[in-house]
Amino acid sequence: APVMALRGLHKTYRLGRHVVPALRGVDLDVRAGEMLALVGPSGSGKSTLLNLCGLMDRPDTGHIALRGQPVHDLDETRATLLRRDALGFIFQGFNLVPVMTAAENVDYPLFLAGVGADQRRRRVAEALAQVGLAEHAGHRPDALSGGQRQRVAVARALVKRPALVIADEPTASLDSHSADTVLTLMRSLCRAQGAACLIATHDDRLTRRCDRVIRLRDGRIEAETTTPQAERSA
Ligand code: ADP
Ligand code: ADP
Repeated sequence: APVMALRGLHKTYRLGRHVVPALRGVDLDVRAGEMLALVGPSGSGKSTLLNLCGLMDRPDTGHIALRGQPVHDLDETRATLLRRDALGFIFQGFNLVPVMTAAENVDYPLFLAGVGADQRRRRVAEALAQVGLAEHAGHRPDALSGGQRQRVAVARALVKRPALVIADEPTASLDSHSADTVLTLMRSLCRAQGAACLIATHDDRLTRRCDRVIRLRDGRIEAETTTPQAERSA
């Protein structure tokens, strides 16, 4: 079964008397270990789709299943619990807590999930080592470079072994070298854990390395392409 299955998703926004269609019938399966790029012009529905997949918002009609369970109609409490349990998030602007060290930022989702202190310490150390930041565990975000901050964000997103990682323009604030490092880490960690990864992006360097590219236009999937293995692993 797919990690996440989307069926017939429709979403409109209301602005005063205007109705703005954002998604107009989206069907998609996201499979375990798969890295998926979501592309399309501004206004095509990428943010709306990420918000639905991230259980931040609900569709008007349609179904979303996460690991086979229906999740399109959860109340806010259940959605929050499921986000903590099964989803990881990576944003363009890092979104680390500025007064917390790298280790505390990575620890936070485990703390919220109620994981015990010993196990948390072990997993935080392991996650920071996996992104090459073992030496920076005690640094606050303002003492880290952009690339290092995004690596902390990757560690934080993956430390609780989510079923699905949702990333919004994760390389947009990074230089080429840092972007490449962050991508390589996202790829290898998601693969190793069997986590699926859904990434909204304009970055061609990123899309080339995803398994599939989903192109949205006017709230519909306009095209879907599978990336050749050679480019993916490059
Ligand atoms: P993208 O992320 O691809 O730029 P969005 O999902 O943000 O696309 O937007 C899809 C459509 O929905 C656009 O027409 C946008 O203007 C509209 N839209 C998005 N969010 C809102 C909102 N909160 N209120 C009203 N309209 C919105
Ligand atoms: P991006 O394309 O980078 O996702 P947008 O400019 O489309 O950014 O959207 C930024 C925020 O504004 C989002 O939270 C989106 O939901 C909201 N938004 C987008 N379009 C509209 C709109 N027409 N009216 C109100 N809010 C909107």
